[in-house]
Amino acid sequence: MINLFTPSFPKPTLGEITDKHTDVKLESTAANASLQEPSSAPTLRPLFWQRFALNELTTVEWEALCDGCGACCLVKFLEDYDDQTDVEYTDVACRLLDCESGYCSNYADRQQYVPDCVSLTYDKLVDMMWLPSNCAYKRLYLGQDLPEWHLLITGDAVATQHSMRAAGVGVAGRCISEVGVGEEELEERVVTWIEV
Ligand code: SF4
Repeated sequence: MINLFTPSFPKPTLGEITDKHTDVKLESTAANASLQEPSSAPTLRPLFWQRFALNELTTVEWEALCDGCGACCLVKFLEDYDDQTDVEYTDVACRLLDCESGYCSNYADRQQYVPDCVSLTYDKLVDMMWLPSNCAYKRLYLGQDLPEWHLLITGDAVATQHSMRAAGVGVAGRCISEVGVGEEELEERVVTWIEV
């Protein structure tokens, strides 16, 4: 059994609940016009997740795919390295995760404090099928669409949060920090509420 650790991701990139990447805007469409930021902000190409391959995305677009569910920041056990979907998640989170909000508390400098935090890149995705089924990176890699509640679809951060909660997606409020949790306790904290 391999104890896997954990890419951290920042908060979602659009809307009033976020405080990172507030300089991101969507290129104009009727649906997202209200989300636009000042014109100096970097842009997301309309429907970029449908029109471009993952390895053709800009950094801003890549980061905008993360829904901030936080599942990748939980300690997990990979049962079979050859089958990445054979994974058990615990409710024990990386020490940098804010367990209330479910967001990384120091995304910019996270690798300084958590050197084994994996930066999720296109090339690594093939070995990351242990990501949850809601994860946009995994979904697009597998040829699936974004979940209908994704912020890029709704353009409404509050609605997205409500829908994620209703769908049982996200670790906010239901995980604990790894600080002070021993190996033995880890194995007792396996959870089943993350769908792979
Ligand atoms: S599992 Fe995917 S969508 Fe969820 S926080 Fe990690 S990278 Fe973002």
